[in-house]
Amino acid sequence: MVRGTDEQEKQKRNLYEKIREYEIEIATCKNQINDINTSITQDCVKKHGIHDFELEAEATLYGGTYFICKNCGYER
Ligand SMILES: [Zn+2]
Repeated sequence: MVRGTDEQEKQKRNLYEKIREYEIEIATCKNQINDINTSITQDCVKKHGIHDFELEAEATLYGGTYFICKNCGYER
C-alpha cells in the first residue's frame, strides 16, 4: 500500500472513517426503505385481501417473465 507522511496517513485514516460512517448511513437508509416497502405490501393485502398479480415481460431481448401486483408493484 502507498505510504505517505504522518500527516497524509492521518488524512487517509480520517477519510476511511468517513467512508465507514457513510456506509453505515447507507445501510440504515436501505433498511428503512425495506421497512417502508414491507409496510406498503402489507397495506395492499389489508386493503385488497390479496395481491392482484399480473404477468409482466422483462424489457430486455432475452428477458423472462415475472408477476407484479397491479396495486402496489410487489414482484414475485
Ligand atoms: Zn399488492
